[in-house]
Amino acid sequence: MTDLGLYIHIPFCRSRCAYCGFYSVGTKPDDRFIRALAKEMEMRSPDFRDRLCDTIYLGGGTPSSLTEKQLAEVMENIRKYFHISPNAEITMEMNPCDMTDSYLRNARALGINRISVGVQSHDDRLLRKIGRLHTASEAEKAVKRAYALGFHNISIDLMYELPGQRVEDFRKSLLWAVHLPITHVSVYSLILEEGTRFAQLAEKGLLQRPTEEVSWAMYQDMCRILPHYGFERYEISSFARKGYRSRHNRKYWEISDYLGLGPAASSRIGRTRFTISPGVRLYEKELLTGGKPPAEVENLSEKDEMEEYCFLHLRMKEGIPLEDFEKRYGHPLAYWYKKQVDMLKKQKLLKEEKGHLFLTYHGSALGNYVFEQFLRDE
Ligand code: SF4
Repeated sequence: MTDLGLYIHIPFCRSRCAYCGFYSVGTKPDDRFIRALAKEMEMRSPDFRDRLCDTIYLGGGTPSSLTEKQLAEVMENIRKYFHISPNAEITMEMNPCDMTDSYLRNARALGINRISVGVQSHDDRLLRKIGRLHTASEAEKAVKRAYALGFHNISIDLMYELPGQRVEDFRKSLLWAVHLPITHVSVYSLILEEGTRFAQLAEKGLLQRPTEEVSWAMYQDMCRILPHYGFERYEISSFARKGYRSRHNRKYWEISDYLGLGPAASSRIGRTRFTISPGVRLYEKELLTGGKPPAEVENLSEKDEMEEYCFLHLRMKEGIPLEDFEKRYGHPLAYWYKKQVDMLKKQKLLKEEKGHLFLTYHGSALGNYVFEQFLRDE
C-alpha cells in the first residue's frame, strides 16, 4: 500500500485574528457539518482504498472548536472510511482557550498524538493587538497541561515582525518558548494577506511595520536561539528537536500525495491539485442532498510541477536531491536551471554539497527571491 496524508479542514473560529487569511467562519461547528464531512469521506474514500494514511492533520480554522463528541465522531469516521497506519502521526491544531483537562484527555483517547498550539507571542499586549483571545500565561499553562496529560509531541507557532514588536520582545518570546515542554516550533513573519484587518490598516498607512534592521535582528535571533536550545532548523519556518520533524508537512514539501477534506481544503494526488470551494453552508447543503461540493481542479504540467519541486525542496534543510530530480524529470537540474543556479551560487544564496542543492544562511533569509528564479519562462 502506498502512503497518503489526510488533511481535515475545520473552518470555524471564535473570532478572526487580524493577520489571518485562512478561510473560517465565526460560528461553532454544528452537527450538520459533522454529517457533511462524513458524507465527503464516504464519497471520496473509495478512490483511496489501496492507500495507507500515515499522517492525519486536523487544521483550520480551529479544530478544537469541535466539541468532544464531535471530535470523537470525526475520528471514528476517519477510521471507518480510510486505512490508518498503526503508527500514524495524528496532529490536531488547538487553541489554548480550548485545552481543558477533559478536552485533552478525550483527544488523547481518540488517538491524537501530536498537537500544534497557536501560541504566537509571549507578550500579552501583542496578543491583544493581533486578535488572539488568550494570554501568554494561559498558553503556557495549556501547553504544560497537555504535556502532563501525555502529549509529548507538541508544536507551537510563534510570530515576528508584528506591528509594534521590538527585537527584545521577540527574543523574550523565543527564550520563553524553548523552556516549554515542546518538540517543535514554527515561526512565521507577518505576511499581509489580502482581506485581513492588518492588510486594510497597511493600505491606509496605519500599520506599524518593522524596519529592515529590526527584521534582520529578529531573524538572526530566531536562527541563533532556537538551535542553541536543541531545535534544528529543518525547514525555512520550522524547527524541531531530534526525531520530531513534522511528517505531515513533509508531504507538502516533498510533493507527496495528500487528500484534503472540508471546505477550502486542498488535495494533491499525482499532478492533480483539487481545492474545495470555501463556504460551509454550501458544502453542507450539497453533501447532505447527495451532491458534491464545488471544487477547482487543476492539472499541473510537468513544468509547473518541476518549479514547485524546486522551491518546495529548497524550503527544507537538505534542499533538492539532485539525483532524484534527474530521475524524475529525465535531465539534470542544470539542463533547465544552469544560469539561475550559477548566479545564486555566486551570490552565496545556494550551495551544493553531497548531491544536494540547498539554501545558505543568507539564502534562507531571501527565500522568496531565490524561489522566483526557479519560475521558468516559456
Ligand atoms: S489564526 Fe487560527 S484562530 Fe486566528 S482566525 Fe486564523 S485560523 Fe482562526
